[in-house]
Amino acid sequence: MNSKEYVQSVYNQVEKRNPNETEFLDAVKEVLTSLEPVFDNHPEYIEAGLLERVTEPERVVSFRVPWVDDQGKVQVNRGFRVQFNSAIGPYKGGLRFHPSVNQSIIKFLGFEQTFKNSLTGLPIGGGKGGSDFDPKGKSDNEVMRFCQAFMSELQKYIGSDLDIPAGDIGVGAREIGYMFGYYNKIKNVREQGVLTGKGLTYGGSLGRTQATGYGLVYFTNEMLQDAGKSFRHQRVVVSGSGNVAIYAIEKVQELGGTVVACSDSDGYIVDDNGIQLDLIKEIKLVRRGRIKEYLEKVPTAKYVEGFTGIWSVKCDIALPCATQGELDVEAAKVLVKNGTYAVAEGANMPSSLEAIKVFIDNDILFGPGKAANAGGVACSALEMSQNSMRYSWTFEEVDEKLKRIMADIYTNSKEAAVEYGYDNNLVVGSNIAGFLKVAESMMAHGI
Ligand code: GLU
Repeated sequence: MNSKEYVQSVYNQVEKRNPNETEFLDAVKEVLTSLEPVFDNHPEYIEAGLLERVTEPERVVSFRVPWVDDQGKVQVNRGFRVQFNSAIGPYKGGLRFHPSVNQSIIKFLGFEQTFKNSLTGLPIGGGKGGSDFDPKGKSDNEVMRFCQAFMSELQKYIGSDLDIPAGDIGVGAREIGYMFGYYNKIKNVREQGVLTGKGLTYGGSLGRTQATGYGLVYFTNEMLQDAGKSFRHQRVVVSGSGNVAIYAIEKVQELGGTVVACSDSDGYIVDDNGIQLDLIKEIKLVRRGRIKEYLEKVPTAKYVEGFTGIWSVKCDIALPCATQGELDVEAAKVLVKNGTYAVAEGANMPSSLEAIKVFIDNDILFGPGKAANAGGVACSALEMSQNSMRYSWTFEEVDEKLKRIMADIYTNSKEAAVEYGYDNNLVVGSNIAGFLKVAESMMAHGI
């Protein structure tokens, strides 16, 4: 069987085994297609059934999460943890609390996480979890009760040498704090490294909050420099206004770029003078408010309902940092038409497969999420190291390591692309570079 036939037959099998799991199937298709040339060089991987194994999670857990709301009414949500691949190290990946969460989304994120984590060069496997719980509009006490109910099940499957969850959409420092407190209480331990993204007073790492956003900009900067460009005096659009977007904006501004637009799930704002980041932080991080409140302080800015329209704002560089599927093929064509020359993903799979094709076909510099947003999980791995050492590095020490990790991810992805004849294509390059390390480890461990 040649490589193409092998990849196609494995995909057919995955499709048959996971009907209707669109997000997961899309992610598998994207990765598998780029891996074809690897099997020409490594026929032994075909013999070892490597792709069949890599596309099947090692373990999937789904559980009931009953909790009591402020009105005394019992609510029931569904919780998940997918332990996708532990060839490189313990399962590592975030928890997402959002009404859209289902098994397909968690499997897609866990699959992606496996290769992303491999790219960081650090010893972490891939996992992901979450719940269809919607933290929006819930009181602090409700969030706490939910987190405790969620952890009372999740604790059975995690541990600092087994599976280390962290935050993702809807899970920030507050939620991690409640879950961490409850885990240690009910297990009668003080396991510092069981979760990452912790508060600084109880084992968190300096720089973790900023890491995904800063890392994205470090990665993009490498990509720009390689093409003889930089962020200086460039117009930049950053979608989202959560943790990733806020610190991406901060770093872009530091490097001399002007961020002219950002968004939340209701709509987007455009401020041609450059977004005032302190105001966004105050609205989003302090007040947990809506992005349109920006206009109360800056009436010259513009607010538009609906978040997908943000890609019509003219820019040189676009950084999608909101959520998956936020940038479709139409949006990609508009960006190309408006002269955008670089796109890098702060969110996980924000661009559709067709949108990515438009970028590649038009020679847009494109940084795929699994490489460009790996800074968050890389810093989580640094948090785990500090927890094991019972020691803390300074912000500068962590930031320096993060910068080096992002530069290495860029170089390794680029080199893999070139080696396999794909020139500048970082989508293929990052898939291959991420996969090879997982594959070698799996081969070494036997079947
Ligand atoms: N949720 C982040 C990601 O998608 C971070 C995961 C982590 O720190 O474990 O990579």
